[in-house]
Amino acid sequence: MSAAPGKLAVCLLTSEVAPLSKTGGLAEVTGALAKSLHAGGHDVRLFTPFYSSIDRAALAARPVPALEQLPLALGAHRYLISVLEAQLPGAGGAPVYLIDCPALYSRATLYTSDPDEHLRFIALTRAVFASCAGLNWSPQIFHCNDWHTAFAPLFLRTEYGQEALFARSRTVLTIHNIGYQGIFPAADIADLGLPPGDSRLLHQHDLAAGRINALRHGILYAGALTTVSPTHAREICTAQYGMGLDDSLRSREDALSGILNGVDYDEWDPRRDPCLPLHYDPDHLAGKAALKRRFLARMGLTTAPEVPLAGVVSRLAAQKGIELMFEALPKVLAKRPLALAALGSGEAKYEQFFAGLMRSFPGRVVFESGYDEELSHWIEAAGDLFLMPSRYEPSGLNQMYSLCYGTVPVVRRTGGLADSVEPYDPQSGRGTGVVFNDFDPPALEWALNTALDLYAQPAHWTRLMRNGMSRDFSWQRATGEYVGVYRRLTAA
Ligand code: ADP
Repeated sequence: MSAAPGKLAVCLLTSEVAPLSKTGGLAEVTGALAKSLHAGGHDVRLFTPFYSSIDRAALAARPVPALEQLPLALGAHRYLISVLEAQLPGAGGAPVYLIDCPALYSRATLYTSDPDEHLRFIALTRAVFASCAGLNWSPQIFHCNDWHTAFAPLFLRTEYGQEALFARSRTVLTIHNIGYQGIFPAADIADLGLPPGDSRLLHQHDLAAGRINALRHGILYAGALTTVSPTHAREICTAQYGMGLDDSLRSREDALSGILNGVDYDEWDPRRDPCLPLHYDPDHLAGKAALKRRFLARMGLTTAPEVPLAGVVSRLAAQKGIELMFEALPKVLAKRPLALAALGSGEAKYEQFFAGLMRSFPGRVVFESGYDEELSHWIEAAGDLFLMPSRYEPSGLNQMYSLCYGTVPVVRRTGGLADSVEPYDPQSGRGTGVVFNDFDPPALEWALNTALDLYAQPAHWTRLMRNGMSRDFSWQRATGEYVGVYRRLTAA
């Protein structure tokens, strides 16, 4: 079986995909890219773990007869893998193959700190090749994502590339978050299941230091490398942002490009957002004001509707720059009319900060600990401004959602934030948000005050909102750029 003439056969390997399994942007990107490639007529098939949290019945997943109870040996470990087939939920869903192995994927969370974490995803990666072989499917592109599937290029080079089915396959690695690299002890080298002799292809310096770094091997061996914004592609080649991988990235600079993520407008569009009872567009902003009133009441915020409402929806991790808020937010809240709605979960110190802020500013600050898709849509729609002071941000999605929802982003100039938010210039009336440079609390405080000053000038604020709402972040552009990367590889 092959793709239609002029179309590509693309195998997308991912540890998470929306709406089946999601902890962050990776899931949204793989879901939207699969959908968009499928809509473009490409033979795209997505492979991902069958986590115990996925509802098999709701998905109507069917076993693939040729892919049942396949033995997989990784070092001393033995697994039995089966594969289920389904369609990604939603209109125009692409085919998805779920790798079923309860011993590996039946855990309380998608990711763990268990000692076999590396095995869970080495198994996924090898199961994908075994599945393609069982399906007699010959992908032109294996598109891996993040550390979890970053060994695919090495496995293709050392073993699978010898098979006729994969002899012409090429690989792409997309780095969604370089902060997570899949490092495990060199003592577990046998878990890779490499043929004897092929361990010379592992990064020798890391091995000598007693570790194996999954992401580094994707960087070294993928045919093309992408990350999720042009600015971040430049950043990760530097020591400041490269997280110890900048030397390997610089050695592959010619293969590296940045493709800014898109927005899935089926999910995120204030004109038809299924999570919201009211809708609005740039010419009819009354719906947004009405949503804000309902939201304030629902969340127990007692500030007047005219008081600006800031939103935060985030993983609560060091990457997100929450510690800048420790100093800046209490100061600004103490001095100016401002309400805050924050949603997130993660490190205890950040959760404690928001919980403490809620106690210090009752009726003005609300914090929901946890992951809540519906509430995240409400915060985007009801808010006036949205805070993303990230230390680093490969692409970031929430600032783009904010722009679409007329919720002015206040962001640090890094990665995808720099590529998607243009600082507002009151002189020309151009720009879509407030952007600050330095990673320190006074810079965030300045940005917040600047945003609040603009909010106090309705002509500027409405202009800012409308500028943002008129930006196009559709997946068509990003998909076109990915297809360009695939075509260059397959033509080479
Ligand atoms: P990252 O992938 O680094 O977490 P992104 O901005 O690229 O950051 O993507 C985060 C995605 O996860 C967004 O769609 C955001 O709305 C969502 N998200 C993050 N935390 C939560 C939460 N607590 N509840 C609901 N959605 C969340």
